[in-house]
Amino acid sequence: MTKSLLKLMVALSGLVVLVVGVSGLVAQRGLKNREIEQSARSLEAQASLVRELIHGRDLDSDDHASFDAIADHAAQAAGARVTLIDASGVVVGDSDVPIERLSMLENHGDRPEVRAALSGSVGQNARRSETVGRELLYLAVPVGEGPIGVVRVAMELSDLESALAGLRNVLLVSGSIGLLAALALSYGLAWFTLRPVREIQRLTTAVADGNLEYRIPRRSRDELGAISDSIHRMADQLRERLEQANREKEQLRVVLNSMIEGVLVVDAEMNIVLANERLAALLGVRAGTENLTLMEFARHVELEAVLRDAANTDEPVSRMITVAHPAEKTLQVHAVRFPAGSGPRLGTVAVLHDMTEVAQLDRVRREFVANASHELRTPLTAIQGFAETLLHSENLKDTTSRSHVEIIDRHARRLGRLVADLLQLSETEGRESRPELANLRIAALVDRVVRDFDAAFREKNIEVEQEAKDDPMAWADTHAVEQIVRNLLDNACQYTEAGGRVKLSVDGDEKWACIRVVDTGVGIPKSDLGRIFERFYRVDKARSRAAGGTGLGLSIVKHLVQSMDGEISVESAPGRGSTFTLRLPRAKS
Ligand code: ADP
Repeated sequence: MTKSLLKLMVALSGLVVLVVGVSGLVAQRGLKNREIEQSARSLEAQASLVRELIHGRDLDSDDHASFDAIADHAAQAAGARVTLIDASGVVVGDSDVPIERLSMLENHGDRPEVRAALSGSVGQNARRSETVGRELLYLAVPVGEGPIGVVRVAMELSDLESALAGLRNVLLVSGSIGLLAALALSYGLAWFTLRPVREIQRLTTAVADGNLEYRIPRRSRDELGAISDSIHRMADQLRERLEQANREKEQLRVVLNSMIEGVLVVDAEMNIVLANERLAALLGVRAGTENLTLMEFARHVELEAVLRDAANTDEPVSRMITVAHPAEKTLQVHAVRFPAGSGPRLGTVAVLHDMTEVAQLDRVRREFVANASHELRTPLTAIQGFAETLLHSENLKDTTSRSHVEIIDRHARRLGRLVADLLQLSETEGRESRPELANLRIAALVDRVVRDFDAAFREKNIEVEQEAKDDPMAWADTHAVEQIVRNLLDNACQYTEAGGRVKLSVDGDEKWACIRVVDTGVGIPKSDLGRIFERFYRVDKARSRAAGGTGLGLSIVKHLVQSMDGEISVESAPGRGSTFTLRLPRAKS
């Protein structure tokens, strides 16, 4: 039974009990009053008769025996208790009290009905008699002038009591029947009225449990009907949206699984939100990521590190990682956190490209370049050596032959530089020569390299200035940094006209130790700025060649910088000079 049903039943039954109770009380009181009124009338007639019996007799006389006898006779005739009382309230005769006990009765002058009769009117009172111990209705009439006494007649109200008990029984029975009827009626009524509510309750429960097909009949056009209509509409919309979401999810799944890139989405706790089949194939693990963390799905420390780094910065993070099993693979990971901006981080999305082939080709190319350069070195050294020997030979008198040998010597030197640069580039590009990172005071290093260039700068009449705002400690490889600064200074010297200025400054911030090389040279056009770090890229080929450049210096710089997790950037304007800024990770103190 529902609570509402119970409440309604309790309310209706309470109402029935209240109505029966109140009407019973009213009926009982009316019955009692009417009964007393009727009894009083007959008692008054009997009292008047008794008064006639004692007419002319002096109630004050001590003839109690005859008064008591009169009372007894009258009582017998009237079927009631008769009491004769003198003016002072003394009982001189009583049908219910034997004569010998009369003197023991207390004075009746203060009884309400006697008091009324003694004051000349008819007195009446219903109460329990102390003398006879029963519920009685008393009626007293005055006797004679004065009055000289009182005739009091009393009758038992037991009839009335039994009538009232009968009434109570009738009320009890009818009340109980009424109560039962009320209960049955209220149950039926409540069941009927609450039926739509129960149906709506079942509907909402079904919808909440995901049964969006559940429907209930429309029973009425009232508010409940409108509510059930709204819930039906809501369930329809919900079903449509769910279907749409499922369709979109399926589309996304198909798109993701047909991609050749691996896609991975993790939440802030590194639990996998989404991963396509290709990702599992790339990482060499089983597909199926339900409720897995990244570590459970694929134990790959490097991948996790990329995702963690991406989670801690607004910038995208791109890094190469390798997978050892089942086959060795090189993967490029691009990871970025989402949503972008300063809001709370929801997760990180990563796209993985298979770079194994590219990496392999790159390795083959590097090895080829290294081998070729290596092979070229020996014949070149021979050519260079013999050209030099010839030039210094007394026998070479012919100017034409000398100029030819000079050309051979110049080109052999250039080729030598080219081969040396190529060798170094392939070394730095490859993993063979990992930088040896250590704490490095860069100001001192810069100072040393600048001194090596003193002669070259002086020769070109270029003013060199050094500035150290700070002396930061970098976490870097001494030889690599030296090489970088050398290349940058070499360029500054080559591409600055006589009379120009070159400035080297060293400073640092929380994260970086910086070296800045500023020149007032020819500068680099904006369109070339993005390409000067490419191999063999030269803005002005003729000038570079004339200056002995190979077009490889800045690519070597770039690789060296990257191998130490540093950054290199350039700002330049043609005719006004260039600024190369090298940032190296600061040593952890
Ligand atoms: P190169 O051996 O030709 O100097 P680099 O790789 O060192 O090769 O430099 C690539 C090109 O960038 C150069 O050819 C030159 O055009 C330009 N470049 C490099 N440094 C400077 C500079 N300080 N001022 C102007 N141009 C420069």
